[in-house]
Amino acid sequence: MRVLLVEDDLMIGETLSDALQDEAYTVDWVKDGQQAIATLKVQPYNLVLLDLGLPKVDGMGVLMAIRTAKLDTPVLILTARDATQDRILGLDAGADDYVVKPFDLGEVLARMRVLIRRSQGKTDNLLQIGTLALDTLNKKVTLDNKPIDITAKEYMLLTTFMLSPDKVLSKTQL
Ligand code: CA
Repeated sequence: MRVLLVEDDLMIGETLSDALQDEAYTVDWVKDGQQAIATLKVQPYNLVLLDLGLPKVDGMGVLMAIRTAKLDTPVLILTARDATQDRILGLDAGADDYVVKPFDLGEVLARMRVLIRRSQGKTDNLLQIGTLALDTLNKKVTLDNKPIDITAKEYMLLTTFMLSPDKVLSKTQL
């Protein structure tokens, strides 16, 4: 598993780089957006960990470059706690998920596993769209990591919708 880490903060970058290597990922760490785009042109990755505030080209620019180049590499963005707008823009621009700084390493690793699993088309017990997650094993729904109470019927409908994102479903299909 090869991961591109794009982070200009040396302390965060080192922490992540070490943790990922401990988890047996191959990590390439670049510290600005321009380098990230150049690297992505020549090397395929299983996942990109992308900071948004970067020198030269910012994370949003990198994200646009990735999606314009039609690379379907999963992108996990790293954002600041108060940057709600950035998260929305990032997700709309094609990021697959985000973690908020200061983040818990275990959470970053878990989110990475989900994205990689999903990109490989493997089935698992978790359906996820943005920050909405549905655990089909425990029948639990969370939004932004907070549990949501829904009825059995709502659960059934939500599962159907999440299994067919971007599709219009007829009444009979439901
Ligand atoms: Ca930064």
